[in-house]
Amino acid sequence: MSNTQKGQRYDAIVVGSGPGGAPVARELARAGKRVLILERGARHERALGFPGGARILEGAGIVCRSREGAYIARGITVGGSSVVYNGNVYFPPERVYAQVGLDFLPELHELAEEIGVRELPPRFFAKARALPRVLGAAEKLGLHFEPQKKFIAPDKCRPGCDSCMMGCPRGAKWTTRNMVDQACKAGAKLLTETRVERVLFEKDRAVGVVTARGEEYRADMVVLAAGGVGTPAILLRSGVSGVGENFYIDPMNIVVGHAGKEYPGAWGEMSFTHAIEDLAQTEGFIIGNVSAQNALLTSFLRANVARHNLGRALQSTRAMGLFVKVADSHEGRVFADGSLSKPKSARDRARMKRGTDLAMEILARAGVPKTAMAVGQSIGGHPGGTVPAGTAADFRLRAGRENLFVCDGSVFPESLGVPPSLSIMGLSLLLGRMLAGKTRHEDRTTAPGGRLAAGRASSTWHRTVSESATDCLKRYPA
Ligand SMILES: Cc1cc2nc3c(=O)[nH]c(=O)nc-3n(C[C@H](O)[C@H](O)[C@H](O)COP(=O)(O)OP(=O)(O)OC[C@H]3O[C@@H](n4cnc5c(N)ncnc54)[C@H](O)[C@@H]3O)c2cc1C
Repeated sequence: MSNTQKGQRYDAIVVGSGPGGAPVARELARAGKRVLILERGARHERALGFPGGARILEGAGIVCRSREGAYIARGITVGGSSVVYNGNVYFPPERVYAQVGLDFLPELHELAEEIGVRELPPRFFAKARALPRVLGAAEKLGLHFEPQKKFIAPDKCRPGCDSCMMGCPRGAKWTTRNMVDQACKAGAKLLTETRVERVLFEKDRAVGVVTARGEEYRADMVVLAAGGVGTPAILLRSGVSGVGENFYIDPMNIVVGHAGKEYPGAWGEMSFTHAIEDLAQTEGFIIGNVSAQNALLTSFLRANVARHNLGRALQSTRAMGLFVKVADSHEGRVFADGSLSKPKSARDRARMKRGTDLAMEILARAGVPKTAMAVGQSIGGHPGGTVPAGTAADFRLRAGRENLFVCDGSVFPESLGVPPSLSIMGLSLLLGRMLAGKTRHEDRTTAPGGRLAAGRASSTWHRTVSESATDCLKRYPA
């Protein structure tokens, strides 16, 4: 922890050090601004991976549910949820640039180049015995699994390790801790284990924050990047209205199965190395592979899966799974005390049912009897939408008051339909450049009269639906 003087005045306070906070903090620090980063979590360095890494997650990864029982995972640590993410890299759909009013595509390409995006090399799959069956079964149905692009350095990673979601014990997975360190090297101060309670205002200007311990820190501007749950809760406690609604989480169903006696399961495989991506924007879901270890861990989250797995304790090496991650409707809510409501809409149920039916069919064709499957429901990890750009925040990402900015998952009005970290980081980098006076808003606005991103926003990674997938969907109607 840096020895920050409480009486000192900063140019900017950044609350949160995940994908929303780290790039803007680094950019401002490199521009010579005096930056203070306030982070609720500690800098956990030891005992990462299973099981010790569970302590990084809110509620130890277990006690973090909405009133309706949806499970919502997030990392409370320096680096935020990037420390527990799978490191999968996706460009957003084109609509997002108009929705947030800003063209941050150049920053996305720049970050992908800077961090290094790679597919895991073939040696990572040399011993995989369930994965080829799953990919083959999907192909026969007309569905294609894409190898995933990752923020993972293969030379540091170990094939068969599946610890990403509890913190990488080998430093192979890139996290926003790298950017926080670079910000500190450029002069920023980081205070860990410091929970921001509310924003301080004078008249209608943000002038600092008050922590849960009652300390005051003052700055010329405040950037809230405490995530889709943390940011609206701080704003509500600060008396800012019109935030906290419109909450989505990208819930997953995880289909957990045990293969028949003649087949090996996904023991020693890695989760989310392959995914069916091309249905993300049309059908609203992606399907990805889950290792035996992670399929069994679902027992800690859902009682029905625990019961299913308990009776099969001797068959653990035959366990395997698929997840179905849905772009959900934004009908949830975050309250000032951080409690959550996340009802399922009829559209969410229909999307989830279709995706789950397909996942079960793929697993069945890969050797898992349908009677040996259980479904762990509503497990989400992409909280967002709660301070949407265009309504609760403006298209400069100001949240209703002077000098108060918001930059994290909260500002995307709709689920992106794909994992959002790269998008959040790109927007944060652009905000940092605009606040540092390096990039003009007029040059990046997508509003009428400004430069429109949509025409040039297509990415080589954008997928269109294949004919074979369209045929398959006809056979499996919603
Ligand atoms: C298990 C899991 C796997 C995932 N896999 C992927 C993936 O493969 N690819 C991908 O793109 N995305 C993935 N995600 C999603 C991604 O990690 C998040 O969407 C992203 O980290 C959100 O960034 P953020 O800045 O909005 O919030 P966060 O990353 O949550 O950062 C917010 C930070 O603010 C801090 N904070 C909160 N409240 C306060 C407060 N009051 N005061 C001070 N600090 C506060 C938190 O401790 C945290 O460090 C995954 C998420 C999970 C949980």
